[in-house]
Amino acid sequence: MLEKVVIANRGEIALRILRACHTLGIRTVAVHSTVDRNLKHVAMADESVCIGPAPSADSYLNMPAIIAAAEVTDAQAIHPGYGFLSENADFAERVEQSGFIFIGPKPDTIRLMGDKVEAIRAMKAAGVPCVPGSGGPLGNDAATNIKIAREIGYPVIIKAAGGGGGRGMRVVHSEAALINAIATTKAEAKAAFGNDMVYMEKFLENPRHVEIQVLADGQGNAIHLGERDCSMQRRHQKVVEEAPAPGITPELREQIGKVCVEACLRIGYRGAGTFEFLYQDGRFYFIEMNTRIQVEHPVTEMVTGIDLVREQLLIAAGHKLSIRQSDVVLRGHAIECRINAEDPDTFFPCPGLIQHFHAPGGPGVRVDSHIYEGYRVPPNYDSMIGKLIVHGADRAQALARMRVALSEMVIDGIKTNIPLQQRIMADGGFCQGGQNIHYLEKRLAERKEKALSIL
Ligand code: ADP
Repeated sequence: MLEKVVIANRGEIALRILRACHTLGIRTVAVHSTVDRNLKHVAMADESVCIGPAPSADSYLNMPAIIAAAEVTDAQAIHPGYGFLSENADFAERVEQSGFIFIGPKPDTIRLMGDKVEAIRAMKAAGVPCVPGSGGPLGNDAATNIKIAREIGYPVIIKAAGGGGGRGMRVVHSEAALINAIATTKAEAKAAFGNDMVYMEKFLENPRHVEIQVLADGQGNAIHLGERDCSMQRRHQKVVEEAPAPGITPELREQIGKVCVEACLRIGYRGAGTFEFLYQDGRFYFIEMNTRIQVEHPVTEMVTGIDLVREQLLIAAGHKLSIRQSDVVLRGHAIECRINAEDPDTFFPCPGLIQHFHAPGGPGVRVDSHIYEGYRVPPNYDSMIGKLIVHGADRAQALARMRVALSEMVIDGIKTNIPLQQRIMADGGFCQGGQNIHYLEKRLAERKEKALSIL
């Protein structure tokens, strides 16, 4: 087993990783920025190292400082969490070259999946269903691009090969706008990602976001753990996630799960990963693979009973997967609400001092959060301060438990999106289930209009 792990992240996921390590008897090293000295996991870790000032570029993205922290503490492995350096192939490579274990896939796999054009090519070759598209980067010949768009059929979407975080995409509804849109997206991609390669896909008008969780040991064994529905989004950011996805039959789950497992084996995937799909009219369309643990992993843990971070650690230690596909049984339904320090109406971040905190409880209620009374949320990082996850025998019970849990949760001193989550949990369309990725924004726009008409 691993003896000591550096947790190269902050906030709730750092605490989540620490708990998994300590459960396995692994010692932990917390690395943190100067403003993060008071993080809960820093106090709980066996050792801690300050790696730089508040800006992420100088701390959580500071590769030499993180690797140096592993050296001075004599750790064996580095867990990157999500965000920050978790999908940075160069970091994974440097970690390995420095003699440490990177808790994730091989650097080459991360690199492959980070290039969306190459990722789609590899997935197509592995039999994963993809969105109809250009199948490769777009050249500069206008006539050829017009022809590709005609073949795909409008609307189309122009996407940056190196894009991420919902940026570097442009929808085109007609031929008149195509050439300009390609040029603009290229210029933006060059500026934002240092790579002007773009490709074209059919723009799906009302898809759901459904993703498949996988685990693979890189030694010829892989399994899937069913799907999550993450269609409740605002500005491409997930707000609520659930497992299983409403309306996905066991047959459909097995079918798409098997395709993902085969793709993992084919590319020699290692670790936890997620195949993200758009799901429309009963069909799955691959959009990208995340080569890390995800924010929404707990809903899968709740319905499968499998600790995904523990599995990541075991795989990194060189263990073969001990769970077989037939051991994975989905039980009940789980929902996760992301809790953000932000204004519930304007979505403006609201960092500051937490004066009172009361966590909800009861059967099937889980709080993954690093906050505590007297903790000051710094303005330097993502506004997510925790996740409230519930499990129920079925979706109706999970919804009821989430409503009660949200009503119990008290975070005073800063604004949070709890009121928004309460509105979502009471919303007729959400309660019905199976809404598409535009649903939340549509409802928010309607609400804004109504408020304006009242005034
Ligand atoms: P990123 O890496 O920036 O998250 P993705 O490829 O995962 O980029 O796409 C992000 C989001 O953009 C999707 O969740 C979806 O809402 C939208 N999107 C991407 N491709 C398409 C498409 N072909 N049709 C419709 N919406 C799309």
